[in-house]
Amino acid sequence: MSGPLLFSCSTGNSETKMSAARGIRELVSLIKDTREQLAYFHELGVENVEAGLLPGTSTQPGVARSPELPEKKPAEAASVPSVAQFPTKVVARTAGERVLEDPQKEITSPPLQSLFGDLGPSAEPPTSSSETLEDIRVDIGNCTRCPLYQGRTTVVHTDGNQRARLMFVGEAPGADEDAKGRPFVGRAGQLLTKIIEAIGFKREEVLIGNVNRCRPPGNRQPTTEEAAMCKPFLLREIAAVRPEVIVVLGNTAMKNLLDTKVGITKLRGQFQDYQGAKVMPTFHPAYLLRDPSKKQETWSDLKKVRDYLETTRKRNI
Ligand code: URA
Repeated sequence: MSGPLLFSCSTGNSETKMSAARGIRELVSLIKDTREQLAYFHELGVENVEAGLLPGTSTQPGVARSPELPEKKPAEAASVPSVAQFPTKVVARTAGERVLEDPQKEITSPPLQSLFGDLGPSAEPPTSSSETLEDIRVDIGNCTRCPLYQGRTTVVHTDGNQRARLMFVGEAPGADEDAKGRPFVGRAGQLLTKIIEAIGFKREEVLIGNVNRCRPPGNRQPTTEEAAMCKPFLLREIAAVRPEVIVVLGNTAMKNLLDTKVGITKLRGQFQDYQGAKVMPTFHPAYLLRDPSKKQETWSDLKKVRDYLETTRKRNI
């Protein structure tokens, strides 16, 4: 017989055909895993990837196929840049880059409950609704509800798929977003796109929004009052789309969605709940641009999201 059993489909033997089909399915899945893994290694700045680090190529018996970044074990340390090998230079802030708080800092602002009292009947966030994203945009209109409208060029609405299974929430637009009217289109946004693709999604398949839709002057963090004015629209969008997983990027997004005082460094990587959706807190991509060593932790958080979404029933998007 010529060639490996896997490809000898012409025998007519149905068992052989089934095993060939199974083999091809496994191969396709392995190629997909490997491409994702390579894309993320590339993003991490890893240039030489040993075969053993790629999915399905472990030389150790009993090691799972699932793509994993290596734990920081001495034997593997040489293949992945150590924290010290990543560029340590703090990237100069461009006009569009957000100034983010040190994630180590605990959030101390007061609970938002009392502020929501002012907003009338919509104070209780809806769990689900039949609104469309367009309905909510129309309602926002040429918004002047908080002082941030004074400095904006455009209202930067939540962008993406009305049937998204996965949503990302950031803080507020920067200069690039303000100019283009779309969230996460600057440097941090480009990194976010790579992260989305590394977990097997296309940007247009997910939903991307911010707590605030108008750029704060000088890219400062939105105040508690500004966030409280804008957040109800985000909550309506979540109720309209009902994503299975919401990734909150950084302290501001996490604090506003989960109403917590705990800092991102403590909560990141642990699934939380918001109205039945899984919420994964992780670092903001702008923070990763300033401290690339945090990409490893972010990748480990995002792999949990990818793995969770692989176990749930797929919604047509
Ligand atoms: N940072 C954010 O938090 N949101 C954006 O849309 C862009 C940068």
